Amino acid sequence: MDDKQSTCYRTIKDLVFEFVSTHDGCVDPEELRERVLACFPGSAWKDSHWRWYRYQICTGKYADEFPERVKQRLSETNRRHTQPRGLVKKHGDRILRQARELIAEAAGRDVVLRFKINRWVYSRLQQDEIQKKKPLKRSLWDAGVRACQRCGKPFASLRGVHLHRVDASEDYYDGNCQLLCSICHDS
Ligand SMILES: [Zn+2]
Repeated sequence: MDDKQSTCYRTIKDLVFEFVSTHDGCVDPEELRERVLACFPGSAWKDSHWRWYRYQICTGKYADEFPERVKQRLSETNRRHTQPRGLVKKHGDRILRQARELIAEAAGRDVVLRFKINRWVYSRLQQDEIQKKKPLKRSLWDAGVRACQRCGKPFASLRGVHLHRVDASEDYYDGNCQLLCSICHDS
């Protein structure tokens, strides 16, 4: 058996677990991807697969299999590796500038109208976020999450239940969300 063979794993999960452990949670997703493809050339490995594993290790079904230190590193290194902040600011500022100009142009000297348009745009954008969260909450609920995923307090319904992003630097998507009670969410 050559060297390459001996570093191969039975399953991708075995490889990922070993990779996380030997790197003590400091995982470079790019390096991991290369390792996965080297051992499993037919794999359709995507970044979203790593995000799923990371989520399951940090707070999901694999959470008991890794020490706290590793889990903490995982969420920290993740933040370092997905840092589009500069890009977000660049585009965000440009869009904001244009939005402000458009609002000023539409309202003219009417300060009340300006205030109202401003409010309208603001609340619609916020509404977009809320609409995105609803189906995610529902899918977690339907998957059997019926209690706060931090303190275990049972939920009677989805009312007042908060959708929490495990990694706050990332968007709301399946692998990055938990249901929390309001106390845990606000703490
Ligand atoms: Zn709670």
